[in-house]
Amino acid sequence: MSNPEQTSASAVLTIDLGAICDNWRTLKAKVGGVECAAVVKADAYGLGAAKVGPALYRAGCRHFFVAHLNEAIALRPVLPGDAALYVLHGIHPDSERDFVTHGVVPVLNSLVQVKAWGKLARERGVRLPAVLQVDTGMARLGLGCEELETLAEAPGMLSEIDLRLIMSHLVSAENQAEVINDLQLARFRAALARLPKARASLANSSGIFLGRDYHFDLVRPGAALYGVAPIAGMPNPVRPVIKLEGRVIQTRWIAAGNAVGYSHTWTAPRRSRIATVAVGYCLPLVGNVSMDTVTLDVTDVPAHELAEGTLITLADDALHVDKIASRAGTIGYEVLTRLGNRYLRSYIND
Ligand SMILES: *Cc1c(COP(=O)(O)O)cnc(C)c1O
Repeated sequence: MSNPEQTSASAVLTIDLGAICDNWRTLKAKVGGVECAAVVKADAYGLGAAKVGPALYRAGCRHFFVAHLNEAIALRPVLPGDAALYVLHGIHPDSERDFVTHGVVPVLNSLVQVKAWGKLARERGVRLPAVLQVDTGMARLGLGCEELETLAEAPGMLSEIDLRLIMSHLVSAENQAEVINDLQLARFRAALARLPKARASLANSSGIFLGRDYHFDLVRPGAALYGVAPIAGMPNPVRPVIKLEGRVIQTRWIAAGNAVGYSHTWTAPRRSRIATVAVGYCLPLVGNVSMDTVTLDVTDVPAHELAEGTLITLADDALHVDKIASRAGTIGYEVLTRLGNRYLRSYIND
């Protein structure tokens, strides 16, 4: 490696922005003429929204979703003015004005939020932009049945609101056989029929693969942009995005019966060679993980391949985030977001 920072770093996380953009193009091609947004919440699933957002903008993406207002405020200056930024968690009484100031669009999740946003619009004498979320089964965010009825009976509540989108979120789109998918689709259509005409959005990454009926006017992929497989048990249509390498800090031989690490959770069954690698809590490995190191049994690896100072690969195209996740009993989303900020980051193919 030529970069001196990388030569000295004890662990390097390489993030392929070109692959993220290719994945966005793949998903966009899948939905034809439908708008393809990007979900960049949780700091673009741990990979760095300030880098990922502008790269996707250059690829053609114009709609970006985050969870919190703070994330939107941080992202606003790095995205050109014609990029729309939506906040999934919506407004609360102290934050409404900040949405207007920063040119960020809230997702309104309850009648209280609809009313508050309408009131602010009246005070300002302008129509304020918003997305309306209806709950179709997630039972997390969005207007429930009764609230939807109330709004349908009194559509004037929306008269000061520039309704950019009506959206809902799928529960189990990655499992194509789940009946809840069809049920949510039907509920979403019924809700749209009751509300003022607006563009609609239902699909996350996995929802895109449920077919045209689920695409509406805009799709909201997150995980698939970052390489996570969108459909359970099917070949992954998107490219891997990350590579994580940790440096071997030390290797040592231990006798059979000796144990390793905090609380001695692993005991060597034979004379073993142990490599200590500079990667902390994030990867699922047998035995206990220390704050910034893991220990690996490398007895069967040829010694010359593991000289102290070597960078070894802990995640890449071959050892994919989904594979790591299934070994750890979790999902790719968690592996990505738990990588954290402690590795030297190298962004490639911008
Ligand atoms: C996180 C999220 C998405 C993206 O979901 P993925 O499964 O990562 O594609 C889309 N919509 C909403 C409302 C979300 O919270």
